[in-house]
Amino acid sequence: MGLLGATLPEKYGCAGVTPTAYGLAMQELERGDSGLRSFASVQGSLAMYPIYAYGSEEQRMKWLPRMAKGEVIGCFGLTEPDFGSDPSGMITCAVKASDGYVLNGAKMWITNGTVSDLAVVWAKLKGEGNREEIRGFLVQKGTKGFSAPEQKRKYSLRASVTSELILQDVHVPEENLLPNVSGLKGPLGCLSQARFGIAFGVVGAAMACFHAAAEYSKSRIQFDRPIGGFQLVQESLAGMLTEITKAQLLCVQLGRMKERGTLKPEQISLAKRNNCEIALEVARQARDVLGANGITAEYPVMRHMCNLESVKTYEGTHNIHTLVLGEAVTGIAAYR
Ligand SMILES: Cc1cc2nc3c(=O)[nH]c(=O)nc-3n(C[C@H](O)[C@H](O)[C@H](O)COP(=O)(O)OP(=O)(O)OC[C@H]3O[C@@H](n4cnc5c(N)ncnc54)[C@H](O)[C@@H]3O)c2cc1C
Repeated sequence: MGLLGATLPEKYGCAGVTPTAYGLAMQELERGDSGLRSFASVQGSLAMYPIYAYGSEEQRMKWLPRMAKGEVIGCFGLTEPDFGSDPSGMITCAVKASDGYVLNGAKMWITNGTVSDLAVVWAKLKGEGNREEIRGFLVQKGTKGFSAPEQKRKYSLRASVTSELILQDVHVPEENLLPNVSGLKGPLGCLSQARFGIAFGVVGAAMACFHAAAEYSKSRIQFDRPIGGFQLVQESLAGMLTEITKAQLLCVQLGRMKERGTLKPEQISLAKRNNCEIALEVARQARDVLGANGITAEYPVMRHMCNLESVKTYEGTHNIHTLVLGEAVTGIAAYR
């Protein structure tokens, strides 16, 4: 449908749409399920985007057209068992070999990992005199020493595959190094793209919850009248509608600024942080309007609510985006 890597140029088999159009597509996917939107976000913003932004022309032509069609599935390996919010501490390392690199380490919580054909793995390349720099490597499925076991027993994002990536003396050829970026700005640049889509996406989940609650309130009779006729229920619906509308306006402005090229990472943080929080609160209020029915799988609300707990945490937790904003306001970093 052209939804994968939708903002990338047509030259690479992509749709070449505006950021706002892409955001609205993410909104509609997440109205269905955050797991579906996560798939599209990871494929487009975290696997295709680094190849587009940091890869060679050969790498772009080799991978992007097939990724746009979904023939090649990608994932993004940054988080490790011991390094989540602070990826700079990553242990996964690469050592230069005669015809490429040898990678060792482990990644965790990697969306699409088990079903991926191509993993974008971020690792510390050890250079001369203990010098280390974070670089991106394309690790192909089936490479000796590389496996991606699925992480099971999740209560959230159950429609999305989440995996470990295990790298034991994995040989990556020179041509699979992303040549045009080094340092944490590589993965952070990808996360800015993905967070933009998340800010739009979660609004879709909130809309689904709001509509479920509004419909239910008109048909559920208590004390001889629809519960939607009680002022307290109307207050809840009015509050949900207001927060969704404000989040939508934030997204429209985010899209305009991205299209003008003026959008700053902290503005994306503001929207990701706010919209995840209000979507989760809308889901909780909608669950309340549905009463006991709200906890069942007959309605989408509890599923969205559980999904949104993950979305609040991944791609920078609520707290981490608070610190991004705090630093932008004061000029003082408060991470450590
Ligand atoms: C379903 C799912 C899919 C994911 N997909 C991917 C993926 O595809 N690729 C990938 O690389 N990662 C992925 N992640 C990982 C995700 O990005 C991390 O979970 C996230 O960055 C948080 O890291 P953590 O879980 O280790 O929590 P931690 O960093 O251990 O944080 C735990 C708590 O401590 C708080 N905290 C940490 N530091 C501070 C501080 N300085 N000040 C205040 N509070 C702080 C956090 O806000 C949080 O509340 C995924 C996660 C989930 C749940």
